[in-house]
Amino acid sequence: MPSSPGLVDLFLSLVRIDGISLAERHVADAVTALLRQAGIRVHEDDSAARLGGTAGNIFCFPPGFRNDLPAIVLTAHLDTVKSTARINPIVESTLIRSDGTTILGGDDRAGCAVLIRLLLDITEQSLSHKNFFVLFTVGEETGLFGAGTADLSRYQTTGAYVFDCSKRPGTYIREAVGLSTFTATFIGKTAHSGVAPEEGISAIQLASAAISKLELGRIDADTTANVGTIHGGEALNAIPERVTIEGEVRAFSPQRISERLTIIENTLRRSIDSRGSVQFSQKTDFAPYVHAADSPLVTALERAMHTAGIEPHPIRYTGGSDANKYNAKGTPAVNLGIGAQKPHSNEEFILIDDLARSHALATALVRS
Ligand SMILES: [Zn+2]
Repeated sequence: MPSSPGLVDLFLSLVRIDGISLAERHVADAVTALLRQAGIRVHEDDSAARLGGTAGNIFCFPPGFRNDLPAIVLTAHLDTVKSTARINPIVESTLIRSDGTTILGGDDRAGCAVLIRLLLDITEQSLSHKNFFVLFTVGEETGLFGAGTADLSRYQTTGAYVFDCSKRPGTYIREAVGLSTFTATFIGKTAHSGVAPEEGISAIQLASAAISKLELGRIDADTTANVGTIHGGEALNAIPERVTIEGEVRAFSPQRISERLTIIENTLRRSIDSRGSVQFSQKTDFAPYVHAADSPLVTALERAMHTAGIEPHPIRYTGGSDANKYNAKGTPAVNLGIGAQKPHSNEEFILIDDLARSHALATALVRS
């Protein structure tokens, strides 16, 4: 019989550890200690230094792991979106929630608990398993940072399963958008607004005229665009010289994103008359991914779901996750529903049955 904590107790102990993004030291230490005690080899990478955080990504290798053989990765993120330092988790008959004054931290400590329990099962029960390892990342909530710095190239990774989507187990993100951001700075000319208004060019007028020409919101079934921030102007009696806007574009293909960014840039530039100017820059935040229904990653997943008694439900999704980063590195990855519902809110909860079903799925993915 396992002497280590069961799934629910493990989850409760994890959510009680404070660990917001890039301040995951305590939770990383707890996970490392628990797994090492059980005979799991744990390696922490150098992401703490690279990202300016307190902990790196944690790679966990079950006994017999071979880095010269094809391997699958099961992964979750260590950080929570807000502090759980004052959490008072409440276990009801069917679910676990906070007392309403904090988040629960099911996003993503539920994923962590499931994968830790899997590793403990394998060592305690000497279960036969495929070649796999578990990766716990840092800094997910603030920008998928740990997944970005995690080096998978030293392993023969054939696929990654991310235990982090708030949908119920069975639902998984087969197609996810990519996200690029843009910044546009409108430059006019300052002058005293009362004494010499003829000498000024209002950057606020330049910006507002330009923004009004942009197509924003849901552009089509595959594309969204938003202007999210605007800053500019310095004084009530000065014609504003600079206004900066920031925005984003999301779509399911890199081409679609770059086409839309080009339209935005051209629209802004065209709307500026010869009196002012605009500086435009863009940056890829994360790339999109799309997996075919008959891809090896997806067929292996759906087979494991059936083994675990879970009905597969692939979806397209307009949010990003660590899976986007792994796909961009060449390791095909999907994000799996774990049922941490109403994430990022104080109403967050998880059904105990969903924890168990994710654990059954993780087990089915790696059992040979
Ligand atoms: Zn998450």
